[in-house]
Amino acid sequence: MNKNILFRNIPKVDVLLEDERIQNMIRLYSREIVVEVIREEMETLRNFIKSSDNEEEAVKRTDDLVQNIERHVVGIHRPDMRPVINGTGTILHTNLGRAPISEEHMKYVASVATGYSNLEYSLEEGKRGERYSHFEELLCKITGAEAAMAVNNNAASVMLILSTLGKGKEVVVSRGELVEIGGKFRVPDVMEQSGAKLVEVGTTNKTHFTDYEDAITEETSALLKVHTSNYRIVGFTDTVPIADLVPLGEKYDIPVVEDLGSGVLIDLAKYGLEHEPTVQESIQAGADVVCFSGDKLLGGPQAGIIIGKKKYIDRMKKNQLTRALRIDKFTATTLDVVLRDYLSEEKAIQNIPVLRMITESLEEVTKKAKTLARMLKAAKLDADIALEACEAQIGGGSLPLERIPSMSVTVKPRCITTAELEERMRHLPVPVIPRTINDRIVIDLRTIERRFFKTIVEQLKEYNVFEENCLITR
Ligand SMILES: *Cc1c(COP(=O)(O)O)cnc(C)c1O
Repeated sequence: MNKNILFRNIPKVDVLLEDERIQNMIRLYSREIVVEVIREEMETLRNFIKSSDNEEEAVKRTDDLVQNIERHVVGIHRPDMRPVINGTGTILHTNLGRAPISEEHMKYVASVATGYSNLEYSLEEGKRGERYSHFEELLCKITGAEAAMAVNNNAASVMLILSTLGKGKEVVVSRGELVEIGGKFRVPDVMEQSGAKLVEVGTTNKTHFTDYEDAITEETSALLKVHTSNYRIVGFTDTVPIADLVPLGEKYDIPVVEDLGSGVLIDLAKYGLEHEPTVQESIQAGADVVCFSGDKLLGGPQAGIIIGKKKYIDRMKKNQLTRALRIDKFTATTLDVVLRDYLSEEKAIQNIPVLRMITESLEEVTKKAKTLARMLKAAKLDADIALEACEAQIGGGSLPLERIPSMSVTVKPRCITTAELEERMRHLPVPVIPRTINDRIVIDLRTIERRFFKTIVEQLKEYNVFEENCLITR
């Protein structure tokens, strides 16, 4: 066929605009967007005909033009952020949004955020209130601290603390704790940004009490301890515990600050994990200021929580930086509801997804794996399905050495490659993100709740994921 004929067969814009499906789109969305998409799709089609000799495909694309326009318009209006199913077994997956919040908690947040709220209004006094007031007392009750506040994330906490206490002055920190957390967050760089001068003491593997004391000068404004969240130094090592730094701070009247990173509020050793220093321990040891993330082991929203002695927290609340770093109503409400569960450890474990996943017994995870495997087999997919033991991990830079025994469903496709399957799973309407181990898809059940099983199986079936004529479109 002559290319001119192919070009001539492309319908004109005004003809397309008469099409019933296009008319429908215009009613549903906007005429401008639809017309713009029509032009773009026609351009794409013309370019294809120009550059390709595949006549058959050109005819097909011309036939599908309206369908492609429809898909394109729908695609533009669909939010890009969407839920994914985390089959990686990494509980605090930084790329997958870290800590999931329970539906029940989010329902409450929605009820507050969809209308007006008392975010900064004291219902008691009928005048302006403080956004931290909703959870400050609660945090103090749970942790034993005198005062509390929260900013957007823990990197912001460190920045605010150092800017408030250490701007233009010296802050002493061990060389073994100059960590990079990921996402380019480096303790030394943050300190520099805050205007505090970093005084490094000790060596990478050993820092002694005397190293801190020798570094104290007239200019020293704080002693800082940083949790080495995502790495461990083992062997010939020595660090000074917070309990030893506190008397040193008292002796010289210098605040002792601890950046705990993860913010564990319950003793994980009870549940068979390595002991992770808790927030309460740090406060009990006498730390003046403690900060930690809201969406790591605490299992709440992204936030940086700062607690400690009232005189220091008050100074931070007044720092101009706080205005730039303050949390919004979504975070304030979510913190409020999630933290309330910590009033009872049992409730926290039950209601907070991160804690539930960490503490779920292998037996329970195995039951889930069996159910999913049974459902996948019943769907008669063109794949070999099996159960296999695996190891989940905490992730998010917390407890890097910890491995939690877990159970997975493995999927080996018969018709397509494992890489193709992985890609197709990623493009499902509700994407499923697995691991690939030894050329099989491994779906770890520790990070998947039962309510997602139906979605997984139905999507794999509906979109012919295992077949040559897969129906996924992008
Ligand atoms: C994770 C972490 C941070 C950064 O916390 P974000 O909430 O991710 O900003 C800071 N310090 C330590 C020790 C951490 O582990």
